[in-house]
Amino acid sequence: MSFIDLVRDAGIVGAGGAGFPTCFKLAPAGGDFGDAYLVANGAECEPLLQSDQRLMETKAPDIVRALLASARALGAANVVIATKSHYHASVAALRRAAEGTAIKLHLLKSTYPSGDERTLIHEVSGRIIPAGGLPHDVGCVVCNTATLVNIGAALDGKPVTDKVLTVSGAVKNPVTVEVPIGTPLSSLIEAAGGFESGGEDDYHIILGGPLMGVSAKNLDEGVTKTTGGIIPFPKTHKLVYYKTIDISRQAKMAKAVCCQCSLCTQLCPRSALGLNVSPHKAMRALSAERGKLLDNMNSIFSCCECGLCSYFACNFGLAPHVIMGNFKRELAAQGIKPQKESLRPVDAGIDNKKVPVARLVARLDLGRYNRNAPLVPFSVKVPRVKIPLKMHIGVPCRPVVTAGTAVKKGALIAQSDGLGAPIHASIDGVISAVSNDHIEIQAEHTL
Ligand code: SF4
Ligand code: SF4
Repeated sequence: MSFIDLVRDAGIVGAGGAGFPTCFKLAPAGGDFGDAYLVANGAECEPLLQSDQRLMETKAPDIVRALLASARALGAANVVIATKSHYHASVAALRRAAEGTAIKLHLLKSTYPSGDERTLIHEVSGRIIPAGGLPHDVGCVVCNTATLVNIGAALDGKPVTDKVLTVSGAVKNPVTVEVPIGTPLSSLIEAAGGFESGGEDDYHIILGGPLMGVSAKNLDEGVTKTTGGIIPFPKTHKLVYYKTIDISRQAKMAKAVCCQCSLCTQLCPRSALGLNVSPHKAMRALSAERGKLLDNMNSIFSCCECGLCSYFACNFGLAPHVIMGNFKRELAAQGIKPQKESLRPVDAGIDNKKVPVARLVARLDLGRYNRNAPLVPFSVKVPRVKIPLKMHIGVPCRPVVTAGTAVKKGALIAQSDGLGAPIHASIDGVISAVSNDHIEIQAEHTL
């Protein structure tokens, strides 16, 4: 079996958030990849998250093995692991594992959003992806270190069945744990000793990092292949204001409050890279009848929704990143796609515009939640897992099992027919439900 087929059959997707099927990323169509860069993204740039750090500390040999195999498949000449210089244990483990190989370590400062693909590619290779373009366009491929751990497991014949994630925020004991995919969020909160005080109704739960993460619907939701963190915040916390913003109210605020100072654009990391991203113009467009003044669609598509414009730049509590994201989804729903466009030169002061994570933590009142989250065994007995059929960019998977079927961990339960990645049972048990959007497995220990 070819390496690419092995990656595809193991159901590997970008574990860092986007969920792009990795077999497509590692098999770029055409082009000369001789001078290409393959970059392992170990930046873990959002505060509170520590799962990538724990993986780099404990599974560095797997990361290195997967990186070398991927570089061979791509024909990439430059192989780099990028991580933060102050992740001392990770750096030491990676150095040991990469000794004697052609892999280079690139140490990053603690700034946000250093893990953003475009920012990282520029930092490591000096190349800039044009508006509407992809890393392949500039001979680069970026894989998250958690994705590489999954590739390492696939080389040993193991498909993706588990996820390492951090449970932090307003919990008693922050932890990093490896859990079966589909594990309900309630079991993760239990693994972290429960909420600080009170109950579910007092908290807003964010999936992923505090800045770019999305809101969970409820505690029955299952962990997916891309869930990097589970972070409850009291509903009164500043971040929850941004996570629950009402667009029509924001439009009124944009009209009444936004002074068009353009500080949001001046601090935008994508704008600093020469992309035509102008959140202040999006605010102006929003206040003038929902996008009437939106002169450049690429300005919207080139936004990575890092949130710096809102969380750090704007002094009036406005949220340009929410508006950018909202416009982006509206345009995509209309079938509008980004166009390739030339870039402005990179901002001469780009390095001075990088925001230190420590300042962001202080600005967002995250200090009291910024605690160590050690990797510990997951000991909660999960009665069932609920596995979504779409955990990736592309089309949902097609179930290949029916209710009542007994399955073993690792068995194929849903197949991908196009852009996607197959799904495997994450526990031993019996299929208890199959619907259009998920498969439920009742754990063997409950039968
Ligand atoms: S959104 Fe805030 S930072 Fe941006 S132009 Fe308006 S007032 Fe200035
Ligand atoms: S969220 Fe704001 S700061 Fe971040 S890329 Fe988009 S416009 Fe720029």
